[in-house]
Amino acid sequence: MTKRIYFFGGGQADGDGTQKALLGGKGAGLHEMTRLGIPVPPGFTITSEVCTEFFASGEKMPEGLLAEARASVERIGELVGVRFGNVEAPLLVSVRSGARASMPGMMDTILNLGLNDAIVEGLSARMQNPRFALDAYRRFIVTYADVVLEIERKRFDEALEIARRKAAVTLGVDAARMTTAELQRKLPDSMLDVETLRSLVKEQRRIVAEVTGKPFPEDPWAQLEGAIMAVFRSWNNARAKTYRKMHDIPESWGTACNVQAMVFGNLGDDSGTGVCFTRDPSTGEKRFFGEWLPNAQGEDVVAGVRTPHPIARGGGDDEKSLEVRMPEAYTELVRVQDRLEKHFRDMQDMEFTVQAGKLYLLQTRNGKRTGRAGVRIAVEMVREGLITQREAVLRVDPQSIEQLLHPTIDAKAPKKLLARGLPASPGAASGQIVFHADEAERKAAQGLPVILVRAETSPEDIHGMKAANGILTARGGMTSHAAVVARGMGKCCVAGCSAVAISYETATMTVTIYDEAGRPTDTVSVRGGDVITLDGATGSVYLGAVPTAPAALSAEFEELMKWADEKRRLKVLANADTGADARTARSFGAEGIGLCRTEHMFFDDKRIAAVREMILSADVEARKRALAKLLPFQREDFVSIFHEMAGLPVTIRLLDPPLHEFLPHERKQIEDLAATMRVRPSDLTRKVEELHEFNPMLGHRGCRLAVTFPEIYEMQARAIFEAACEVAAGSSAPKLEIMIPLAMTRRELAMTKKSLERVAAEVFAEKGRKVDYLFGTMIELPRAALRAAELAEEAEFFSFGTNDLTQTTLGISRDDAGKFLGAYVESAILPKDPFTSLDVEGVGELVATACERGKKTRPNIELGVCGEHGGDPASIRFFERVKLDYVSCSPLRVPVARLAAAQAAITEESAGARTTD
Ligand code: PEP
Ligand code: MG
Repeated sequence: MTKRIYFFGGGQADGDGTQKALLGGKGAGLHEMTRLGIPVPPGFTITSEVCTEFFASGEKMPEGLLAEARASVERIGELVGVRFGNVEAPLLVSVRSGARASMPGMMDTILNLGLNDAIVEGLSARMQNPRFALDAYRRFIVTYADVVLEIERKRFDEALEIARRKAAVTLGVDAARMTTAELQRKLPDSMLDVETLRSLVKEQRRIVAEVTGKPFPEDPWAQLEGAIMAVFRSWNNARAKTYRKMHDIPESWGTACNVQAMVFGNLGDDSGTGVCFTRDPSTGEKRFFGEWLPNAQGEDVVAGVRTPHPIARGGGDDEKSLEVRMPEAYTELVRVQDRLEKHFRDMQDMEFTVQAGKLYLLQTRNGKRTGRAGVRIAVEMVREGLITQREAVLRVDPQSIEQLLHPTIDAKAPKKLLARGLPASPGAASGQIVFHADEAERKAAQGLPVILVRAETSPEDIHGMKAANGILTARGGMTSHAAVVARGMGKCCVAGCSAVAISYETATMTVTIYDEAGRPTDTVSVRGGDVITLDGATGSVYLGAVPTAPAALSAEFEELMKWADEKRRLKVLANADTGADARTARSFGAEGIGLCRTEHMFFDDKRIAAVREMILSADVEARKRALAKLLPFQREDFVSIFHEMAGLPVTIRLLDPPLHEFLPHERKQIEDLAATMRVRPSDLTRKVEELHEFNPMLGHRGCRLAVTFPEIYEMQARAIFEAACEVAAGSSAPKLEIMIPLAMTRRELAMTKKSLERVAAEVFAEKGRKVDYLFGTMIELPRAALRAAELAEEAEFFSFGTNDLTQTTLGISRDDAGKFLGAYVESAILPKDPFTSLDVEGVGELVATACERGKKTRPNIELGVCGEHGGDPASIRFFERVKLDYVSCSPLRVPVARLAAAQAAITEESAGARTTD
């Protein structure tokens, strides 16, 4: 039979630190610490396999398990010298959850188990401390009632408040006008006297009997059974489920359950409890760091009613530090923490209790840390010889380093949460609300920080987005226009914030406030000009200005990146549309441009008039005249980008969006434009209506524009070649690549290629100079992926436009997905938002197929990806597997991609090594 219970205690343990899957993180840590001879109260771990069996059998305890648990509890008693259920010398235990991955505070724990009316009297006599025993008892009853019997905690909070008010009267405290919190501060739990506690316990037991119709379970063994089952069940509570979804933790893992002898930090002034870290989890600095509370149990630290004191001297009031108050326990703790960090070779987060002067460790785990701390710790541990460079590269979460490149919300600042949307582009920004792009530009020009708030954005809002400090949209997903453009600009953006309803007419946004269960409870109306703050890393929207901390790149960061670069195979390019973006991208280590979206250049104030004139022209000649006005602007843009990217690849995509995106849609704007263009507003309205499409994403866009209006791509090609000849003269020529969007057939490519070649020949003849370039296509349609062998006859490179390829493969509009994709992910129909992390099974298969078929035709075809997935670590892992040549992503994601690519290369390499073994 498989072993179901693993015992630890007396310097020996059945398990060890490697068994996180079976024993949970907490359990594995306890077993390993016991083996190391660190003082840990004895106990045992019921494996996570038992938990999965428990669920598989409809929440039934496996046969014989309780008898085994009972024997193990007796063993604990022998080691401690007391007995479970014994009145004179009772053993009390804790029953704690602990899964493979840390899920802090998400599951349940029960302390002081094994008490009843008779035992509490025995305990109090033995300890000669009736207050302590009764306090432990009343805490136990509340937790047990809440976790096991599922009685509302509120009932017990009310009973405690009544008891406290009565005690106040006896003590002569005038509590009548005090709030609950004030009274609690004036008369904390530790001041409740024996009589108060005794009657409180009685009242608590009465509540249990009233609600359940049965007395509180007196039998300690029955209590134990109830607690173990409740801990297992807590794997499936709502909080835990949400946490698992957020952190990609599989539902199937289950939790282990640890039963352990209680030690008490609340026995008096020579006792206490605390939490500590081997290094500072927020900065990464190598200093022993932590907090503790004298005469307290662990839950007091968590409850936050009492303010804990620093452990070591120099962190505030030295007199209150553990170092001064309990020097011996402190010295031992310092020794233990050092030992644990060296042993686990990672920063440890530990819980400890001092019982009557003696130190016990209750938990150790690899500590959570900020992005900044993560980088510093990894690099310093390499310098200290604790880990290798390779381990350091694998250890830092790529997503976490994006925080380093943006200002962040000051975590300690007070704030009022208004709503939560999608964390579309990281960073933090405060400013006045504006509802229109023009207004954003106007106010920003006056030096006012603004947040542009729109139902959704479109290309005509670009200037406002540029001017704004941050962008908030009510609709749209992670690849909506707002999200993509904001990331490209490195600007903070919260998208798809569906609690927000915008009225442009009244310049207000109405925010629905929801309670924890997702029920609407209230609405708040916020007006244009009011200040809000966005946290693009979490998707939070706050009322008022919340202070931010600026980004800072450390020497450690540069060092880690250098190691990552040595280990990666994939090149990392950037999506950048301007010289300025290109410069930012270079500063973050981009090795070229994988996508330059030329349409973004069209929205500039000086150009949009010519673009509109081009669109509205009645014939080819008029269109060519308008295009001629645009040509110098485009050439200028390309020259500036080429200069930034001397010697590196620059991939320019020809015009992609449907033309109506460049036209105004609101009446006032149409009238204004008609006046400038000297046409009748009604004619202009008609033209706008003519261009209307039911499904613009599947409409007249991409290279379809070139089929009907070849002169557009011809003008762009001329601008590109002229710019390339100009910079080539100064010997800073980039490696030029020209890319056709949304192709589905070889013929589309053949046709555009021919016209580009003609323009190239003309320009080269005029300039007396030739530049090399590659001609290629984006793969954004399933047909293109399937017919890749043919497409590769024309195309010298493929760049996977996985935003569109996801949209067209799944048949989910990227602009409407926000409305329902959340529900898909929540109900686990899809594992993740496929616009954020590649749908490897579906879209991935098309990518792999296209690579394979493309290579058959053209073995040296260049392969890359420029959709948003190019900056997503999980997707990068896949791109490494199918051996793309590069990933391209927004400039601020470049470091994320560099690190993720290094991790992917290392992981692939070890997977390869395993299969050849
Ligand atoms: C894509 O579709 O993946 C892409 C990069 O193009 P865009 O987002 O501009 O449609
Ligand atoms: Mg696309």
